[in-house]
Amino acid sequence: MAQAKSMAQNKNTKTTATTKLTASEEALKKEIVGKVNRHFGKVMEDATPHMVYTACALTVRDRIMEKWAVSHQTVKKMGAKKLYYLSFEFLMGRLLCTNILNLMQTEEYQHVLNDLGYSLPEIAELENDAGLGNGGLGRLAACFIDSLTTLDLPAYGCTIRYEYGLFRQKIVDGYQTELPDSWLDNGNAWEIARPEETVEVKFGGEVYTDWVDGKFTCRYNNSHTILAMPYDVPLCGYDSKIVNKLRLWSSKSPDHMNMQEFNSGNYVRAVEEKELAEVISKVLYPEDNHTEGKELRLKQQYFLVSATLQWILKEFENRNGQDWSKLPDKVVIHINDTHPTMAIPEMMRLLMDEKGLGWDEAWDIVTHVFAYTNHTVMSEALEKWPLDMFRKILPRVYMIVEEMNRRLMIRLNEVYPNDSAKHKYMAIISDNQIFMANMCLASCFAVNGVSKLHTDILKQDIFADYYNMNNDHFYAITNGITFRRWIANCNPELTELISSKIGKNWIKDASELSKLKKYAKDPAFKKQFAEIKRNNKVRLAQYIKEHNDIVVNPDSIFDVQCKRLHEYKRQMMNVLHILAEYNRILEDNVYAENYYPKTYIFGAKAAPGYKRAKLIIKLINSVGDMINNDPRVKDKIKVVFLENYSVSIAEKLIIAADISEQISTAGKEASGTGNMKFMLNGALTIGTLDGANVEMLEQVGEDNIYIFGLKADEVAARVKYAGTDEVKNIYSSNASLRHALEQLVDGSIVPGSNQMFRDLYQTLLFGDYGFPDTYMVIRDFEEYMKTQEKMSADYQDRDKWIEKAILNTASAGFFSSDRTIEDYNKNIWHLTPIK
Ligand SMILES: *Cc1c(COP(=O)(O)O)cnc(C)c1O
Repeated sequence: MAQAKSMAQNKNTKTTATTKLTASEEALKKEIVGKVNRHFGKVMEDATPHMVYTACALTVRDRIMEKWAVSHQTVKKMGAKKLYYLSFEFLMGRLLCTNILNLMQTEEYQHVLNDLGYSLPEIAELENDAGLGNGGLGRLAACFIDSLTTLDLPAYGCTIRYEYGLFRQKIVDGYQTELPDSWLDNGNAWEIARPEETVEVKFGGEVYTDWVDGKFTCRYNNSHTILAMPYDVPLCGYDSKIVNKLRLWSSKSPDHMNMQEFNSGNYVRAVEEKELAEVISKVLYPEDNHTEGKELRLKQQYFLVSATLQWILKEFENRNGQDWSKLPDKVVIHINDTHPTMAIPEMMRLLMDEKGLGWDEAWDIVTHVFAYTNHTVMSEALEKWPLDMFRKILPRVYMIVEEMNRRLMIRLNEVYPNDSAKHKYMAIISDNQIFMANMCLASCFAVNGVSKLHTDILKQDIFADYYNMNNDHFYAITNGITFRRWIANCNPELTELISSKIGKNWIKDASELSKLKKYAKDPAFKKQFAEIKRNNKVRLAQYIKEHNDIVVNPDSIFDVQCKRLHEYKRQMMNVLHILAEYNRILEDNVYAENYYPKTYIFGAKAAPGYKRAKLIIKLINSVGDMINNDPRVKDKIKVVFLENYSVSIAEKLIIAADISEQISTAGKEASGTGNMKFMLNGALTIGTLDGANVEMLEQVGEDNIYIFGLKADEVAARVKYAGTDEVKNIYSSNASLRHALEQLVDGSIVPGSNQMFRDLYQTLLFGDYGFPDTYMVIRDFEEYMKTQEKMSADYQDRDKWIEKAILNTASAGFFSSDRTIEDYNKNIWHLTPIK
């Protein structure tokens, strides 16, 4: 806010723009000034920067809306098949600059804003991130909707309009604290409320089924109705013809307030019920790769799914009438991880109870409409619901799930006769729990993993029994990122440099990026490429000075690990290695003299209930305090933890990285997408053979990526055999690792508190249940250290390093989410691009 104020004060002192506005820029300027007048009742002189932001956003929205009206007509006329992408998370970030970029009007807006005494980047900073997601899964959905639209494929993203997105992280005394993210406080210029499309969603009560005149009927008693009201955010693709939308559902009470209570003077009780209804869309669950089985979460799931399906069926009916058997020709519904799985029995319910279809007819439709993506093999992330809770909240849906399970058991008995262990493992209902992944596997016409390795693990391990039963609908579709946000928008200098050599088309056709390979040895190009990286590092250094009050050297190696904090992502290994380097600098003069300066930068949110992850954040900060303030280190190492990692922070951070840390325990990271963002922006990866890293190695070649550590099958073997001796042996033989580990409990990191990090020490060496080092931190440490050393040495050959960096950028085309979407469309969705 302080920044915004000074901007307003400065605006009249700024030199007026040097370039004269073109006629169309003059018109745009008039439009923006007009919005300030008519939307806020202010003249420009009195407008706050935030008003100017909103005015700009509204002019952009107008442009999108005009395209929308046309595109809507075309899609309707074509009778085109549509994709509904159901996801509990859409981590969109800011929209102003990406929307302007997609409209190809960046320069115009820049000129006009400069003319008005502002700048586009400063104005853009005033937008709150739409942080409706935890991490990779939610960001993937956001990248997908951009690519779908850019490829002119008709699609809708569907999610909840959380009033509070993912919490805002504030570091206090080294600890993570969580603040609410009230992102809607200043309004949301992008959304359009659609109260006329409100639908009802019912919870609880009792169900009575009956046959009346040979027709199945279903009555509900004492159920509780909640309204679902949609808000639409129209989205344009890059230089594309169509407009798609993100539909956000908000919960509302059907009664404004209880007038009886109100009249009898009980004001609080009168609004209580309203509050209860509205709590459903209040807050996003802040857990990544973890699920807790909470009642409110179950209600959120049913709320989104039921509202969305009612809308889908209504749209279908409006266009195609009541021939429901045609539904699979016109509609495909994608389930992003198991969170929206309830859509399957809910579709059965709607088709049977509301549309009058029989089970077999409905089942035939359902099994041709839904596709499912799995995002993780970690057991704590696989959703299961207590049967009693499910039945109480969703009595009718439960009946359907029970019937699905009964029929599944008959099928399984035919495929795997007398194998009760398999039946139980594959069941939708067992041990009084409902298993959502099995529900998907038993009903979806397509199932996919998110990288080659991850899909192999699904086929060979966790979903092997389903795969062996029906192997022709499993697909490996490697994740991707939208190049519009993750380079064109966040790294404009590099984008311009690339375009100056190979033209602009690579932004839309990523395969053209490989044309850049021939410049990897071009001295002039290399010089410019290196300068841009350095400029980005200087800007990040300024940000770090402002936000962390730490001075970092832009000529040091920027080594970045930013992603959710999770044990499997092994931030712990990174910290232990920093400690080891620090110790060696203090102990070994020759090493210290030759040590090339490094800046280690972290960004990570931990789930608020994940104590160990939060302790690792404290450890990073404490190690940082110790090292940053130790004069003996002579500023050779700096450790920075950037608060509140989010899309907008990622955009500043990733473009400034020299080294990208992708060091998860092999087999645990399904794909990763952060890895791709770094590669695209010319950072070199240090990583394990996990997720999409495997395919990054294929694309860029082994000379240009630093791979280390156990492979997925080696990890799996060790997990089975505990490996206590192996851990003990490493502890005894690796002195620098041992020293770093002992520092966790000898009081050297935070003087006076030697017990603070005991839990971390304990789990690494002894484990939770007698299995030490579950995530192979100790077992991979030595190779990690050696690989780090090699990178520091290689970095000093600047010429060679820059060549490798360019080759990384040039080899990143495969990781465009446009390619990912084309894979989905070819294999699963079969949508036709709108002409
Ligand atoms: C890309 C992205 C992620 C995913 O990062 P991974 O390293 O793949 O886990 C998480 N959060 C944000 C804000 C992102 O932009």
